[in-house]
Amino acid sequence: MLVVMKNDATDKQVQAVIQAIVDMGYQGVPIPGAQRTAVCIVGNKGEVEDSKLLAMDGVKETIRVTKPYKLVSRETHPELTVISIGNVTIGGGKPVIMAGPCAVESEEQALTIARLVKESGAQIFRGGAFKPRTSPYSFQGMGKKGLKILEKVREETGLLVVTEATDHTNIGVVEEYADIIQIGARNMQNYSLLRRAGHTSKPILLKRGFAATIEELLMSAEYIMSEGNNRIILCERGIRTFADNMRNTLDLSAIPSIKEVSHLPIVVDPSHAAGMRDYVIPLSKGAIAVGADGLLVEVHHDPAHALSDGMQSLYPEQFRLLMDEVKRLVK
Ligand code: PEP
Ligand code: MN
Repeated sequence: MLVVMKNDATDKQVQAVIQAIVDMGYQGVPIPGAQRTAVCIVGNKGEVEDSKLLAMDGVKETIRVTKPYKLVSRETHPELTVISIGNVTIGGGKPVIMAGPCAVESEEQALTIARLVKESGAQIFRGGAFKPRTSPYSFQGMGKKGLKILEKVREETGLLVVTEATDHTNIGVVEEYADIIQIGARNMQNYSLLRRAGHTSKPILLKRGFAATIEELLMSAEYIMSEGNNRIILCERGIRTFADNMRNTLDLSAIPSIKEVSHLPIVVDPSHAAGMRDYVIPLSKGAIAVGADGLLVEVHHDPAHALSDGMQSLYPEQFRLLMDEVKRLVK
């Protein structure tokens, strides 16, 4: 439930409402808006008895929110969330492009690719230092050494960096180095990691699990937001279906569906959806056309020797082409 305060409600009246909600055994989260403040009641399992709240000074009305997620919903927060990091804006209407290798493999590799993607117009460099791999025998990433390389990439190119935290033991070190912390598809429902992500000051890129519904994705974002971090970027990266023509099925319908119910920005990762580089450009165009706030794309200067996901990594010249296509579409 939302308790909507009057335009002229004072801070004291808002605080009194929050206290009354706490006295009822729930949590009251204030959501300041341009016109008025709303207080969101979280933690209730069933219906909330609102007569006492309605009688309080400064309260305009209460609105029942039927969706199980609240903080991430547009009913609670009608204005779209725009995330600014340095001079990059995500969700502001212009798609943001994050590009780079699946994994950081060496300083030379990361810097070479970073220079190339920057030249083509990417604003954010992606590269995993901690890699969640299906096989325990596959390359697991360079760990902290990889994070230090990402720091160098930022210093040298001015690109922001997004990199993944794979569990609660490495999110602490990742937050020291990353501009955006990625939580991968396999970890979308790792609730201790989500709660921990709610306590960082860095924005979170939350990927949809490959068997997760949109509601489950939003509930995972709700975990992060309920702990205090409201800078979340959602990411559609393909789901498992019966279709076997690509690695996953890119669910482009998720973009307009999520935009209708949530204020959070959403980007698309066509690389993990496709699994093969030649499908990445058409899927990217589709993503931009349906309103995605950006793309997360794998690019490698030497994909044949990549330590992970070489097959789906674009050649630098393909990435240049992708950027041209995106610019044309945005226009
Ligand atoms: C990745 O971005 O490299 C990655 C592992 O993606 P996902 O979590 O979507 O599989
Ligand atoms: Mn990858």
